[in-house]
Amino acid sequence: MASRNRALIERDLEVLWHPTTQMKDHEWLPLVPIRRGEGVWLYDLDGNRYLDAISSWWVNLFGHAHPQINQRIREQLDNLEHVLLAGFTHEPVVELSEQLVEITPVSLTRCFYTDNGSSAVEVALKMSYHYWHNRGQAEKRRFITLSGSYHGETLGTLGVGDVALYKETYKPLLMEAITVPSPDCFQREPGQSWEDHSRAMFVHMDQALAEHAGETAAVIVEPLVQCATGMRMYHPVYLQLLREACDRHGVHLIADEIAVGFGRTGSLFACEQAGICADFLCLSKGLTAGYLPLAVVLTTDQVYEAFYDDYATLRAFMHSHSYTGNPLACSAALATLELFREQDVIGRNRELAEHMGDAVAHLAEHPHVGEIRQTGMILAIEMMQDPANRVPYPFQERRGIRVYQHALSREALLRPLGNVVYFMPPYVINEDQIDHLARVAEEGIEHATR
Ligand SMILES: *Cc1c(COP(=O)(O)O)cnc(C)c1O
Repeated sequence: MASRNRALIERDLEVLWHPTTQMKDHEWLPLVPIRRGEGVWLYDLDGNRYLDAISSWWVNLFGHAHPQINQRIREQLDNLEHVLLAGFTHEPVVELSEQLVEITPVSLTRCFYTDNGSSAVEVALKMSYHYWHNRGQAEKRRFITLSGSYHGETLGTLGVGDVALYKETYKPLLMEAITVPSPDCFQREPGQSWEDHSRAMFVHMDQALAEHAGETAAVIVEPLVQCATGMRMYHPVYLQLLREACDRHGVHLIADEIAVGFGRTGSLFACEQAGICADFLCLSKGLTAGYLPLAVVLTTDQVYEAFYDDYATLRAFMHSHSYTGNPLACSAALATLELFREQDVIGRNRELAEHMGDAVAHLAEHPHVGEIRQTGMILAIEMMQDPANRVPYPFQERRGIRVYQHALSREALLRPLGNVVYFMPPYVINEDQIDHLARVAEEGIEHATR
């Protein structure tokens, strides 16, 4: 049978090297060529469709090919595709910055743009260190991070991350962060609440700060959900304690909301649930609703002022990327923020999140489900060999891939992280589609744990 899918796959495998992939897997695991998208659906070249339950790696917010976002990008395209942002400026980037300053906590007043999440984290790390340097405290050059954290794939961000699969090989090349045990509530004692566990785990952070504050520039965290390590979650109280402790010790707080920002956790930004404001807020992914690469670091007047001086003092932040503040990407972001203003996105998400939770609740009784956890529009199901004795499946068994394959055969794109099956869908998903995902996930887990 002639397959347009197969023809493209063959051409692809001659010339491409895919991200985070053992390419040999594609001897038996077919690539999925996508021709077009519409709403929650992706369509391949042979006309099959897949419900994008993971928002194409957590970036998509309002579905594929959204008319309003498309239109805004088209209009911008006819005027200006790109111009450098050093010495020059343009309306989309100014308007976007005004709006971002408006919707984030009051003390965040300055926007610095990059073109992907990793480089935004790099900027936050460099800016924090440079701030202390400009203030005559260059000895503050270390960073504190949580176990299981993920902040990107560049050498700088791998240094403050802690996902072994991505980091281990490169360790000799990386700066050494101070790693503190995560408040990850999957590790809590039976019967313990998320709040109690998160609070109890703070002693480790408190100790690290007491010991290292003098040499530490910043603590970096993913607020509420550590996504890449397997959607591990914790209680907002941890962020409150962290903010207080950072202030007490004179250390910056970097909030990496690249994955959790823009409504994923049930509030526009995750930090809102703790009522705190970071010194640096990193945003990307949902910023353009999954359309174009764009990232931003928001920071405070206090940080900005430490760089503001006569040129010859050499205090300026000398960092740039070619596509910094790209007008097309900014237009996509402006259309995204417009959708948030026009619709009660957060309110609707609350309903959808509740429906998601209900749809899979019965799976908690499954003999190979260790936990179902949820924060807003992120829901995760942890498959385990022996939940009662907390025995995980060996990673070599790759059970998640069986769920992935089963889902594709049932019109769904689920892409488990190891043994963690999760939903992180576009916000335009409806209740029936959630029910379908829940059925597919159940079948897939059944299939994978047999
Ligand atoms: C995706 C992600 C990054 C990296 O962003 P890229 O655009 O992929 O470089 C950093 N931090 C978190 C929390 C992320 O989820």
